[in-house]
Amino acid sequence: MKRVGAHVSAAGGVENAPLNAKAIQAKAFALFTKNQRQWHAKPLTAASVSAFKERMAECGYLPQQVLPHDSYLINLGHPEEEKREKSRLAFLDEMERCQQLGLTLLNFHPGSHLNQITEEASLDLIVHSLNWVLERCEGVTAVIENTSGQGSNLGYRFEHLRHIIDGVTDKSRIGVCLDTCHTFTAGYDLRDQACCSETFAEFEKVVGFSYLKGMHLNDSKPGLGSRVDRHHSIGRGELGLEVFRYIMGDPRFEEIPMVLETIDDTIWEEEIALLYSFIQE
Ligand SMILES: [Zn+2]
Ligand SMILES: [Zn+2]
Repeated sequence: MKRVGAHVSAAGGVENAPLNAKAIQAKAFALFTKNQRQWHAKPLTAASVSAFKERMAECGYLPQQVLPHDSYLINLGHPEEEKREKSRLAFLDEMERCQQLGLTLLNFHPGSHLNQITEEASLDLIVHSLNWVLERCEGVTAVIENTSGQGSNLGYRFEHLRHIIDGVTDKSRIGVCLDTCHTFTAGYDLRDQACCSETFAEFEKVVGFSYLKGMHLNDSKPGLGSRVDRHHSIGRGELGLEVFRYIMGDPRFEEIPMVLETIDDTIWEEEIALLYSFIQE
């Protein structure tokens, strides 16, 4: 089945996230396991971890239906050694937090070259960082998110995702997450069924659906190829509804978490219902 949900709040503790997801009829969810705008966080308490696991079971969620998102501060391709090291340690900490929670995925933004080194050099640094982290933890797959390519952010071409996958030693622990807004603003059209077929065929050719571990379902405020990352509510932006109809009807998107990061959280339940309505059409 399709697993649509949203990036829900973990305010008051990670154990609140499954409840927040259940409340909006989500069949998957995303969360931050720490404050996404700070480097340091207190370790998860044993009470919080056990409450999270209990509520996962109560609410009927499996680990593979949850797509935690890492901190916005982490840059695994940072040109400066010291800052890259800080990012690696923070990413390792996030992988360990996921493992403690019994989760199996961690979604991250690939990194930025900051106009100090080439894209290729920064992609190679991301690969080295990932191999370093993956050797030091277990049980959690690192899921690369494609980006709009805003500023010097990498990951806006499917070839960037492929470059990273090629360099990672343990291919069983690397995956990708496609964000519909980022895909579109990076220059891949998704506005009608023909465009979707072409874009996802390109994804299959360059990366491969076997690596697809999650989706972010967002409409876009900016236009095609704008390289600007601004989400919009489903059907209200430049993308329109066709891409969501396409995804909901395509078996290649079964059973992976598909998460809304749309701008109005008061209509998430409606948006989830709208997406499921496309299956019954
Ligand atoms: Zn993201
Ligand atoms: Zn975005």
